[in-house]
Amino acid sequence: MTISLQHWIDGKLTDGQSERTSPVFNPATGEHTANVPLASAAEVNAAVETARIASLEWRNASLSRRAAVLFSFRELLHNRMNDLAAIVTAEHGKVLSDALGEIARGLENVEFATGVPNLVKGGYSEQVSTGVDVYSIRQPLGVVAGITPFNFPVMVPLWMCANAIATGNSFVLKPSEKDPSASLFLAQLWHEAGLPDGVFTVIHGDKEAVDTLLTHPDVSAVSFVGSTPIARYIYETGTANGKRVQALGGAKNHMLVLPDADVDLAADAAVSAAYGAAGERCMAISVTVAVGDIGDRLVEAIAARLPKLIIGNGADPDTDMGPLITAAHRDKVAGYIAAGQESGATVVVDGRTGDLPAEGFFLGTTLLDHVDTNMSVYTDEIFGPVLSVVRADTYEDALGIINSNSFANGTAIFTRDGGAARKFQNEVEVGMVGINVPIPVPVAYYSFGGWKSSLFGDNHMYGPEGINFYTRGKVVTSRWPDPATSTVDLGFPRTR
Ligand code: NAD
Repeated sequence: MTISLQHWIDGKLTDGQSERTSPVFNPATGEHTANVPLASAAEVNAAVETARIASLEWRNASLSRRAAVLFSFRELLHNRMNDLAAIVTAEHGKVLSDALGEIARGLENVEFATGVPNLVKGGYSEQVSTGVDVYSIRQPLGVVAGITPFNFPVMVPLWMCANAIATGNSFVLKPSEKDPSASLFLAQLWHEAGLPDGVFTVIHGDKEAVDTLLTHPDVSAVSFVGSTPIARYIYETGTANGKRVQALGGAKNHMLVLPDADVDLAADAAVSAAYGAAGERCMAISVTVAVGDIGDRLVEAIAARLPKLIIGNGADPDTDMGPLITAAHRDKVAGYIAAGQESGATVVVDGRTGDLPAEGFFLGTTLLDHVDTNMSVYTDEIFGPVLSVVRADTYEDALGIINSNSFANGTAIFTRDGGAARKFQNEVEVGMVGINVPIPVPVAYYSFGGWKSSLFGDNHMYGPEGINFYTRGKVVTSRWPDPATSTVDLGFPRTR
């Protein structure tokens, strides 16, 4: 049965009016499970208006009241994790344990935001001049919007909305149209947690909805996570319309393996980081740069692990890797493998062959060796279960390869040499660095963000920079004359 999804506006499910919809699939079965409404500009305007009205009251809610709502939301989310994970797996395809992992990483952001009374503290300087004090406060922006990708339908919205709401804003979410149901589940939990109607909105849509948010005079800030071309467009359009924008883009993450590395540790890390969630992670390892003589041993160790991975429906607890998000994306990824092969890469393991489920959008794991940096399999973000191995003679050569890449989201080094690791963390031009950690997603009390074409804007996402992004500073300079010298009748005796 194909169900019709709804928007979440002003604290309730609301039918779409535009008559435009987009299909939602279960990628493990290929079944068309739902249609999601695509909002018209008029519907987005109406949703933003409810958010604007709600923000006028929410901005004045006490810090303790806001924290209490966050604590309730945290408990509800924690208690309903399994239900939410099942929704994620049914529309995204990732295995249940991975869906639970993304919810856990999102929960961290909610827990961070419960500390809002501490996070928005300002500074105070007494007696900067006689009778004059100066202090700073941080205030909410009003209505802020989030536009999110398909690959983390829970975690990425939570990166944004936990801090945005804690700091007193109304948050309008435009989730991916490919797996939209998780956002409606989050909306229901916010409602149950006692969040006033209109403070959290879900408006589904495509370019029309996004463009309306980007140009709406009542939307003060836009947070975006998605591919680089769209991130650039969001940044340019949003800032041209006077908005604060943070737009996180695509990635091509390299794992540098030095000759002294523990080969088994590095191979295990490469397998989980390259093929977890079928490679559809912005922090997935896409390229392994093998330095010196470790290349052959590393490729052999990775190849030996791949036949053991069970590929199938993510709802089955025995499955290690699920399908890709759509049939079209699966075919695009397969096309990159063919292009790599044609341009001279060695196909060590070929994901296009082998025993894959007949239904659904499956592709097996692929390992390409001797990949050259001018091949499309290297230059482009593939976003699938394909790992390329590039050989480098020296550490300097490997560093040069990483620093020449236009993407700079995450990277990792595998070595037993602390000095080499320290040199790498200093010299590599990438926003997030792992040392013997393949996917260095920062904990919620740091901030997440890449460099170069992986991020447009000044603030990284969540953590302290998230609080900064969703608030604006105000500095007050006050003068109060000494009551003993005042000539005004105070109605009480003047004493020193
Ligand atoms: P996408 O760019 O296609 O879509 C992201 C969002 O933008 C969706 O909500 C979509 O509806 C909207 N959108 C798409 N086309 C648009 C257009 N022309 N105009 C306006 N809005 C548009 O990305 P995706 O395929 O959903 O997600 C995968 C991408 O996201 C990958 O490139 C991945 O690297 C990236 N990503 C990056 C990070 C990060 O932290 N840097 C995290 C997760 C995903």
